[in-house]
Formats: sequence, structure tokens, C-alpha cells
Amino acid sequence: MGKVLVLNASYEPLNITSWRRAVVLLLKGKAEQLEHNGKYLFPGFPLPTVIRLLYYVRIPYKEITLTRRNILERDRHTCQYCRYQGEVLTLDHIIPRSRGGGDTWENLVAACVRCNVKKGNRTPKEASMKLLTRPRRPHSSLHFEIVKQTKGNTEHKWRKYAIGL
Ligand SMILES: [Zn+2]
Repeated sequence: MGKVLVLNASYEPLNITSWRRAVVLLLKGKAEQLEHNGKYLFPGFPLPTVIRLLYYVRIPYKEITLTRRNILERDRHTCQYCRYQGEVLTLDHIIPRSRGGGDTWENLVAACVRCNVKKGNRTPKEASMKLLTRPRRPHSSLHFEIVKQTKGNTEHKWRKYAIGL
């Protein structure tokens, strides 16, 4: 019996809830089931893994602080140039600081020491080093939670609903 991803009416991830709470929302007609895990609560009623609210919930925008930890978390502790995963990761300024690159979500990525040194004071293009993904500001801390819960499981039912996974 797992947790359930709740989507807003707009299909954006809203929160993570217990299967019990999700079932209540479904039975009350407040949500629709989008994905289930193949197990049945009772005949004709599969246990949900993703539901979508039928009404829109307005959520106040909560900004995530730009920290080293959050950058590493966003990049799933993976070097964004060579896919190395490990403890020893640095932050790389895509456009080097000495050349006007700032401390922003869009300009900072996780990089292993080797790639960081190899890239040096160059842009990825100059160094012929391609980024795995274009770094972006995470939408919410829920994004981190989804990343964590679906780690190493590319078949996870939640993944297609999380932007940028
Ligand atoms: Zn690397």
C-alpha cells in the first residue's frame, strides 16, 4: 500500500498523500483516478497511485532557496556532463563566473571534479562538453520529493506527471 501522487485539476503535481485519503477523495467524487498499481481494494476499485482533483486548488508560490544542497538534489547527485554519481561533486558555473556567469538556477549544475577541472574557464560549447539537461529552477519542493520517491525506478507511475524527470 503505497503513497499517492495528487495532481491539481491542471495536472500539476500538488502533493503526496496516503492511499486512504486518496480513496476518500475518489469515493466523494472530488478526484479521478489516473494510475493504479493493479491491486484491488474491492472488485472494480483498483488502488490508486496517481489521482487528479476535479477542482483547481490555488497554491501560493513558494520559492526554493538556491543552495549547494538544493542544486545537487535537483541534479540528483549526478555530474551533468558525464553522469558520474557520487559524494564528491562540485558546482560548476556553466558560464564561468569570471566571464559574467551568475549564481542562478540556470547557471549552476552539479559536476564531478574531473569535469569541472577539464572545463576550466570555458563555456560548455568551447570545451565541447554537453550538458545532460538544461538546468532550471525547480517548481516546488514537491519536485524533490517526487525525484526521491521515484529514484532508480524509471517505470514509476509518478514520473510522467513530474515536469523535467
Ligand atoms: Zn563529470
